[in-house]
Amino acid sequence: METLRYYERRGLLERPERTLGGHRVYPSEAVTLLRIIKTAQRLGFSLTEVGELLDVATRRHGQRRSTELQTRAKTKLVEVEQKITELTTIRNTLLEAISGECVDLLDCANTPTCPLPISELFTAEQVPGGHPGHRDKHRDDVTGTY
Ligand SMILES: [Zn+2]
Repeated sequence: METLRYYERRGLLERPERTLGGHRVYPSEAVTLLRIIKTAQRLGFSLTEVGELLDVATRRHGQRRSTELQTRAKTKLVEVEQKITELTTIRNTLLEAISGECVDLLDCANTPTCPLPISELFTAEQVPGGHPGHRDKHRDDVTGTY
């Protein structure tokens, strides 16, 4: 119910009629609108964007070939694909940190072959690729044999 009132305040839902007892009566349209809002939010649209899309839908009623939703869906798709790329990088780095047996971040910072991009910020060109030696070094650190 708090959500409904929030949507009302944001102009996504019309204020409902009230019964004599003061209870709010939502028309069945409100239920459909709620489903639309939830679905659009799940696709990554903000409430403001959903409101704008609904607004466009209302204004161009009868003119169903509006390109607004298509345009926004494509923009959202680009955003989502960028996020996937970023997340894939994070995923790969985490996998490398696990398989490279990273143990201590300070130690990682001093290990040129560490897969974590700690030193990349400063010495991108000097860091040799690969990390097979890193694993050995971490092992040595853990077991104390140097
Ligand atoms: Zn490391």
